[in-house]
Amino acid sequence: MTNFQTLRGMPDLLPSQTECWQKVEDLARNHFLRAGLKEIRTPLLEQTELFNRGIGENTDVVGKEMYSFLDRGNRPCTLRPEGTASVVRAVIQNGLLNQGAQRLWYNGPMFRYERPQAGRQRQFHQIGVEFFGLSSVRSDAEIITIAWDFLNELGIQGLSLQINTLGTMDDRKKYRKELVTWLENVFDFLDEDSQRKLKSNPLRILDSKNPKIQEMLDEAPVLMDYLSNESEQRFLKLQSILSKLKIPFQLNLKLVRGLDYYCHTAFEIISDQLGAQATVCGGGRYDTLVEQLGGISTPSIGWAIGMERLLILLGDDFSTKTSTDVYIINRGEDVYINALVLAREIRLANFSVELDYSGSAISKQFKRANKSSASWVIILGENDLSNDEVRIKSLNTKHENIKQHISKITDINYIINIISL
Ligand code: ATP
Ligand code: MG
Repeated sequence: MTNFQTLRGMPDLLPSQTECWQKVEDLARNHFLRAGLKEIRTPLLEQTELFNRGIGENTDVVGKEMYSFLDRGNRPCTLRPEGTASVVRAVIQNGLLNQGAQRLWYNGPMFRYERPQAGRQRQFHQIGVEFFGLSSVRSDAEIITIAWDFLNELGIQGLSLQINTLGTMDDRKKYRKELVTWLENVFDFLDEDSQRKLKSNPLRILDSKNPKIQEMLDEAPVLMDYLSNESEQRFLKLQSILSKLKIPFQLNLKLVRGLDYYCHTAFEIISDQLGAQATVCGGGRYDTLVEQLGGISTPSIGWAIGMERLLILLGDDFSTKTSTDVYIINRGEDVYINALVLAREIRLANFSVELDYSGSAISKQFKRANKSSASWVIILGENDLSNDEVRIKSLNTKHENIKQHISKITDINYIINIISL
């Protein structure tokens, strides 16, 4: 018999981990609710062309990371590698852009065929926020604030916010020419990846992970020097708002997000604890994308946080064990049905109940109850049943003075009253 294994880079999330995930997701939902955001859920599978156009053919994601295939009707499909393109498609398709500004969040699995390592998986999860129809620099500051405050609310230390501006398309055109000329002069010193990008996507070379390239680039022209006055003022304004909000930031003039449609604000939140996978949150303004995907021209900005990286940062101590209210000990052929009936009644009254299925000696079951996180234990023994009785004991030091209650098994109200203490 074959022992089936998960596909590489697509790990299971086990009960020991899901508590932590749920806590992060709960905090995120709550945080976004307070920020007035609405949730959107889009399908995992979309037309391949959406990502080709929405992310760009010259990006690593589209070029070599997508899970694409033909479905049984020969339609080219792709498992979503990120959330933005799908959300843009959804707001266009469903006419949400006619209903005023949209401030949305999403959460879910994404798929990229990459080399798996810590903080880099093939099925990974992103929580993201997108604003549509807001062009003012105030919205850039607000969306950054939402990410920054959420990460801080989780108690993560050692984060830094890096910001840059990519200016307008015109600013970038001027700069791109200068950069390409500079890069052509040092072509022989570039690595293979950067040489390839020089033709397809020269700005993305600035983003190279190769330290040698990064050192060289210190001498390269910077976009900042090619900005129009208007773009520069906008960027200065962002910095002044962030200072007002007391959100510390660093300028990173080499921060370019990979996609051609990004403009003005680009930002990342970096951790000093994650080695090569340092970026926890990446985002930027993308004012031309909606139009590019067939909608009406709509200024937009968004970010995405990688859940796996977040969970590495939070560590194992983050989850608070969910506690059970009641542990039911039961022994005897006829008793176990009564135990199940009782468990059901108590659950319907909104308490959590763990039912012992072992049939082992009461003392053994008691040991397990003590090890569980339950606050109360209810004991149904064979003899008890003949008296129509259950015993209720507290496992919680809070109720130490209460030794034991005896209740009629049918007197659910009495039982509920006790475990509500
Ligand atoms: P990187 O440079 O690390 O590959 P990226 O620029 O490809 O990141 P984005 O597309 O901006 O990443 O995605 C936003 C966030 O999603 C990243 O900052 C990261 O936290 C997370 N992320 C991206 N790819 C992966 C992956 N393969 N596994 C886990 N998390 C990921
Ligand atoms: Mg990547």
